Amino acid sequence: MREVKFYNSLTNSLEVFKPIKEGEVSIYVCGPTVYNHPHIGNARPNVVFDILVKFLRYIGYKVTHMSNLTDVDDKIINEAIKENCREKDITDKYIAAYFKMVDDLHSSRPNIIPRVTETMDEIIAFVKELLDAGYAYEVNGNVYFRVSKVEDYGKLANINIEELDVGARIEENDEKENPLDFALWKNTDKGIKWDAPFGEGRPGWHTECVVMINKNYPEHMIDIHGGGNDLKFPHHVNEMAQSKALYGTDIASYWIHNAMININGEKMSKSLNNFKLAKDLIEEYSGNVIRMALLSAPYRSPVNFTSDLLNSSKMELTKIINASKMAHTKLQLNDYVSDKVDEEIIDKFLNELSNDLNIANGFTIVFDLVKRINMSVRSNDLENTSKYLNTLLELNKILSFDLGLKELSKEDKELYFKWEDSKKEKDFAKADEYRNILMERGVL
Ligand SMILES: [Zn+2]
Repeated sequence: MREVKFYNSLTNSLEVFKPIKEGEVSIYVCGPTVYNHPHIGNARPNVVFDILVKFLRYIGYKVTHMSNLTDVDDKIINEAIKENCREKDITDKYIAAYFKMVDDLHSSRPNIIPRVTETMDEIIAFVKELLDAGYAYEVNGNVYFRVSKVEDYGKLANINIEELDVGARIEENDEKENPLDFALWKNTDKGIKWDAPFGEGRPGWHTECVVMINKNYPEHMIDIHGGGNDLKFPHHVNEMAQSKALYGTDIASYWIHNAMININGEKMSKSLNNFKLAKDLIEEYSGNVIRMALLSAPYRSPVNFTSDLLNSSKMELTKIINASKMAHTKLQLNDYVSDKVDEEIIDKFLNELSNDLNIANGFTIVFDLVKRINMSVRSNDLENTSKYLNTLLELNKILSFDLGLKELSKEDKELYFKWEDSKKEKDFAKADEYRNILMERGVL
């Protein structure tokens, strides 16, 4: 298998990827809390990890891609109260909205999509186990994780606990032994509740992912745990602390974090009121363009969403689509069929992605290929037109843009030849007419 390197947040270094089981990869990516339409920040991990999964599959790994839906949370309960409906009405609506975004961005859905509401028995059993082992304590029906009992707490986020500005990042309250301790179970009189040996309530957020991973991987370890940078602390640190406590593992061998999205150079935040919903951007620019924009920076660098970025993404994508369409049409008009590809170009592209998913260098290869396609079409070189188009289609198995390639009907072909004839006869009015019809039919 091809050598792949990833930047591992756990060691802060670029490491050669070695899966636990040869030829297989298990990936878990923290999914959304489904109380609202996903914003563009939620779309980035979706596209980044989609590319990662497709790349690993392309080079021959059997990949299990798991991503959860947080369908129990204060935000959901508040939304249900506001809308005067059940929590499930809220989560059903926004789970559908989330998957519409995933589909619109041309990402594949994960293989395993666990939900908190469907994992409750296991979550309760897990909290009980932590209590029994002394890693948790109960106060007034609330259960907290005892952070001081695990070694290396904060290792993943590279944080020094003593220097941590507790008030700024962590919820302080008098019940906790230590401000860093986090809720495993919340005693609440608001919204949906479940019965548990330690009292009626609902789980805290940090437990679900550990339990879901354990449910599917009884060895308590997966290869890659992914998510946005903002989840590193406290969420991922807390996930890891719980796994360390009961199983002595880091949950995952490689922790991969994508950077955030800025809007016109500023962080998306409530105070700036600059949240952009993915669906609005997709409606305005198309899923293709948003996917391109999300891939415009290396996954560990922020992407700055501006109208310039969106317009240049649209232009670049148009170059790829136009070249593919032109080549595809040309080959069909000439009944030229071949499945030859340029192995060397594919290899170069995969090499770039093998280096911590260097998609920017990957695109350099894509645009070089676009030039080759255009040149081959112009010089009527059917053999190379076919070879380079096939190569681009191979790379697109990972990139997953919708190129809108159309199988031409007999009528399409006839119209095309008429267009060419009228150009030859210098009947430009007629030629324009045919051109418009062909464009309408998606041939051009
Ligand atoms: Zn998580």
